Amino acid sequence: MSQINIWWIRRDIRLNDNQTLHAALEGAEYLVPLFIIEPELMAEAALKRRAFLLSSLAELDQQLRKRGSQLIIRQGPARKAFQSLSEDLEDMAIYSHEDFSPFARHRDEEIKVNFNLKFSQGVVLRHPTSVLKNDGDPYVVFTPYKNTWYEKPLPTPADILPAPGRLPPLPEGLKTDSLPEADAPAGFPGTEEEARNRLSSFIENEIEKYQSRRDRMDLEGTSQLSPYLRFGLISPREAFAKAQVARIQAKGDQKRSEISTWMDELVWREFYTAILYHFPRVMDGPFREDYKDIRWRYAPEDLQAWQAGQTGFPIVDACMRQLLNTGWMHNRGRMIVASFLTKDLLINWQKGESWFMANLIDGDPAANNGGWQWSAGTGTDAAPYFRIFNPVLQGQKHDPDGEYIARWVPELSELPVKYRHEPWKMSQEEGKSRNFKLGKDYPQRLVDHKFARQRTLDAYKSARSG
Ligand SMILES: Cc1cc2nc3c(=O)[nH]c(=O)nc-3n(C[C@H](O)[C@H](O)[C@H](O)COP(=O)(O)OP(=O)(O)OC[C@H]3O[C@@H](n4cnc5c(N)ncnc54)[C@H](O)[C@@H]3O)c2cc1C
Repeated sequence: MSQINIWWIRRDIRLNDNQTLHAALEGAEYLVPLFIIEPELMAEAALKRRAFLLSSLAELDQQLRKRGSQLIIRQGPARKAFQSLSEDLEDMAIYSHEDFSPFARHRDEEIKVNFNLKFSQGVVLRHPTSVLKNDGDPYVVFTPYKNTWYEKPLPTPADILPAPGRLPPLPEGLKTDSLPEADAPAGFPGTEEEARNRLSSFIENEIEKYQSRRDRMDLEGTSQLSPYLRFGLISPREAFAKAQVARIQAKGDQKRSEISTWMDELVWREFYTAILYHFPRVMDGPFREDYKDIRWRYAPEDLQAWQAGQTGFPIVDACMRQLLNTGWMHNRGRMIVASFLTKDLLINWQKGESWFMANLIDGDPAANNGGWQWSAGTGTDAAPYFRIFNPVLQGQKHDPDGEYIARWVPELSELPVKYRHEPWKMSQEEGKSRNFKLGKDYPQRLVDHKFARQRTLDAYKSARSG
């Protein structure tokens, strides 16, 4: 019987360094590059994320056609798609990347009951069960996790698998559904070439300054690779291998340390994936159960103002408007707005988590949940509850000239820098001379930070003692 191998594409939309594709090619007489459109995931996906996914798949299809193949699209749920495929293809083996979210694990368990599903690795570099404490328990604190993570050798460029040339044909007569059109442009070009160019240009121009510039919101000091890693247009192995080469070649401890900081960010990604794998309950509530009874405020209007970038705190509003416009937000911004929602507005972090998932182009359940629980102080290795960002100081420090604010909150762009951060400090007279009125041209602050800070300290304390 002819060997039909299915390459079930999920978070590995790439031809380069794809372990699953290589495994699926072994002995394959026919290869079916398959993407299943899961209604459940599509319904939840942010417009930009959906657009990025669809444009990346369209590009992959082009690349496959150049190699004598084609992308096959089927409508989910996966179980149904495979049932219908198996009616056409008698002897099929399914190859896929192991994925670690509760949704993916549940789906894959179901598929394994009836089909021959074989996993390769590649969503992260180290499997969640391969970085454990001596007693076999998972780590819940980042630094010791990271130390153990680095004990194993890092990949080198020689480990990166090349994209295959010609591919085996599709079985005759196999039909494909059509790929839906994206509703809006994604903003980030969905091609492997773009992912690899971004990585190269970041390594060439930025990585040696990463630690010093990554928090500056007015600069482009980070790689902006997150959507590409999210959907696997580039492998984490390639990112680690190339960063490691840069670290070996860097001159001086300072530069090496800047590069290490970037690699550590990739390890955070692995850490949060492992946390979600070992503690799937974090999707439903705080990791630290002593915080399950925090009395969050029910404040739909405040939540809406936060979502719309209308809180009256310029740095918060700039970040939230960047998210609405581009689907992406700077990491420092994510921390600022998450702290603001949970600690200034005392609104449950889960509301922010789901707003981010509904809007982020790189929305990833593990990193997003980890980031929110870190910010709310309820997570594994979280910011302590009493560390409450002052949104004005954060803005002044990380956007010193107010340029980021001016870009995203244009109604403040004509004001002198000090007022861009604190428009309420402008006298009425000065406002008049600048034709600017607080409350009309830009909202009044939703809360008084000092008051809000105390309210949060009290709420967290009473949750712990209650
Ligand atoms: C509240 C909150 C929510 C977040 N939600 C997400 C999310 O849904 N998806 C997501 O990919 N990241 C998320 N992050 C992490 C981080 O903000 C983004 O990964 C980063 O801003 C992406 O920009 P970059 O590619 O330029 O990152 P770089 O600074 O260039 O970092 C390189 C890569 O490392 C990974 N990374 C960096 N920081 C983190 C981190 N703290 N946790 C996990 N991975 C990290 C990303 O894959 C990133 O692309 C969140 C952070 C917070 C505080």
